[in-house]
Amino acid sequence: MDQLLSIKAYANREAVPIMQDEGCDFICNYIKKHNVKSILEIGTAIGYSSIRFASIEDDIHVTTIELDIDRYLRAVENFNASGFADRITAIHGDALTQEFEQKFDLIFIDAAKAQYTKFFEKYKKNLSENGVIISDNLSFHGMVDDITLTHNYSTKKLVRKIQKYVQFLKENQEFETEFFEIGDRIGVSRRK
Ligand code: SAM
Repeated sequence: MDQLLSIKAYANREAVPIMQDEGCDFICNYIKKHNVKSILEIGTAIGYSSIRFASIEDDIHVTTIELDIDRYLRAVENFNASGFADRITAIHGDALTQEFEQKFDLIFIDAAKAQYTKFFEKYKKNLSENGVIISDNLSFHGMVDDITLTHNYSTKKLVRKIQKYVQFLKENQEFETEFFEIGDRIGVSRRK
């Protein structure tokens, strides 16, 4: 789709972080294979991954939250231009304080990495019976396995938070997580 190419070019130019192809293809295949119909995405950015998810089947609904107003507005423009606006609910707000009654087949955590554990704990109640929580960037460019790859203080701090999140997933009593060496490492967590 031409629109996706122009969203990617914009993201590249304006340094907006969007999913890498490999990781996004993996989630799209998961959605197809497991007949996922309702998706909650935490971290819209400018709507790239939401549009990709909504374009898989015409009965998929995506709800997506973005904190940054400029990105949210750009995402809404992109949704309108995509033709999928009726199946993508865009919310401007902080995912740490948002509340949903609804259940989702897939919850995709792709926002502030330091908050992943909070997002997981907060939204697990919104998972449908066989639903999964997918988290991206669990390798954080290799630094989660080897923190000496960075000497930057704030990057180290963030890497430690992601390490803690990975530990939280590995030791979780309620959820089992499978890790995939796709893109920047993806975790797929489902209830035991
Ligand atoms: N999923 C998008 C894609 O692949 O097209 C990329 C999302 S980007 C990696 C992460 C986004 O999460 C950023 O745009 C950031 O502003 C947003 N974000 C960070 N903290 C947030 C929060 N607490 N609530 C909602 N959005 C948040």
